[in-house]
Amino acid sequence: MKALVWHGKEDIRYESVPDPEIEHGRDAIIKVTSCAICGSDLHLFHNFIPGMLPGDIVGHEMMGEVVEVGKDNKALKAGDRIVVPFTIYCGDCDQCKRQNYSVCERTNRNGELADKVFGHRTAGLFGYTQLTGGYPGGQAEYLRVPYADTTHIKVPGGMTDEQALFLGDIFPTGWQAAVQCDIQPTDTVAIWGAGPVGQFAVRSAILLGAEKVVVIDRLPERLQMAEAAGAIPINFQEESVLERLEELTGGKGPDKCIDAVGLEAHATSTVDAIYDRAKQMMLQESDRAHVLREMIYVCRAAGVISIPGVYGGLVDKIPIGMAMNKGLTFRMGQTHVNRWTGDLLRRIEEGQIDPSFVITHTVGLEEGPGMYRTFRNKQDDCIKVVLKP
Ligand code: NAD
Ligand code: ZN
Ligand code: ZN
Repeated sequence: MKALVWHGKEDIRYESVPDPEIEHGRDAIIKVTSCAICGSDLHLFHNFIPGMLPGDIVGHEMMGEVVEVGKDNKALKAGDRIVVPFTIYCGDCDQCKRQNYSVCERTNRNGELADKVFGHRTAGLFGYTQLTGGYPGGQAEYLRVPYADTTHIKVPGGMTDEQALFLGDIFPTGWQAAVQCDIQPTDTVAIWGAGPVGQFAVRSAILLGAEKVVVIDRLPERLQMAEAAGAIPINFQEESVLERLEELTGGKGPDKCIDAVGLEAHATSTVDAIYDRAKQMMLQESDRAHVLREMIYVCRAAGVISIPGVYGGLVDKIPIGMAMNKGLTFRMGQTHVNRWTGDLLRRIEEGQIDPSFVITHTVGLEEGPGMYRTFRNKQDDCIKVVLKP
């Protein structure tokens, strides 16, 4: 089959690879009908997350038709249409019983490595480094889904791929980011990053009843997309984020702050950004924390900092004293996808939201390598790419 294969920094190729096969009784094989490129894939493209090996198939947003199931898989049959969540979960370990699916204790087949690096293992993820199991990803014609009897979302008849696809990652990710904020009707929620995750965080914060939602980015087309949903835009290249947020909140600061940017934050020319750049180049720091520092500074005292943005390793100069004295709450993590998808599927069916709004580009899988660049460079007003194998 054909797939997108990681070979190193900024080197993703469309190549022939062996077809996947059933390896365990709970598995399923799907024929991928749609997949997408995520902001998290860009961190791999830039080689910022350790643990990729040349030859690894990338992609963790995908859906398709079941073509084969393992002998113990009673939940699926050939012909079923499913979205595959990016977090592989077993459904019966202690963490899964608490619906903490992204830290499932059984699905990471390199769990011992993760125990050493993180202290305790996290779940297996598709197409996302050896640290999370080294499972082949879904930017491919076919995908083996381990633990497929639990790790799936069935798509109701009549729902298009474009409406359902993002249930596997960015929709529940924006949703969890907002839920973690424990939104009250008087809250101002500020969201850094108007990429796909930021877009879903904006809509989720509005659905969850925030009084005011503010979105921060520098790309006009992304700010406009968020504005169309009801958010107040701040362009950080044109105005002071701190001054505008103070102004919008009567000097109190946003009650809740969401980091939908992660480890590759841009900053104009602040001292902390220059410092991060230099340390990153000397390999003394892996991530850039400009957004985190800005959020801690501007957040209202006793507020919540919610972090869906991915960080990989070490960051320097986090003002923990400021955060402690202000009594901030930090909540973060990879998304517990299936914890939210029943509710979100219903909201799509009821017409509360149509996730396809975010798609700007749809192309064949063979154009994937070029599309990584278009998406990374934000060329052609690119916000979200869907690939059709
Ligand atoms: P993206 O790269 O398309 O979007 C990031 C946006 O942040 C861009 O629009 C960029 O212009 C903006 N940005 C950069 N610096 C900024 C700054 N200083 N202030 C405000 N905005 C700034 O990516 P995405 O697909 O939207 O993903 C966003 C983050 O969420 C990534 O880190 C991704 O890895 C992460 N993610 C996490 C999960 C999870 O489970 N927690 C799931 C999906 C994605
Ligand atoms: Zn993702
Ligand atoms: Zn589990």
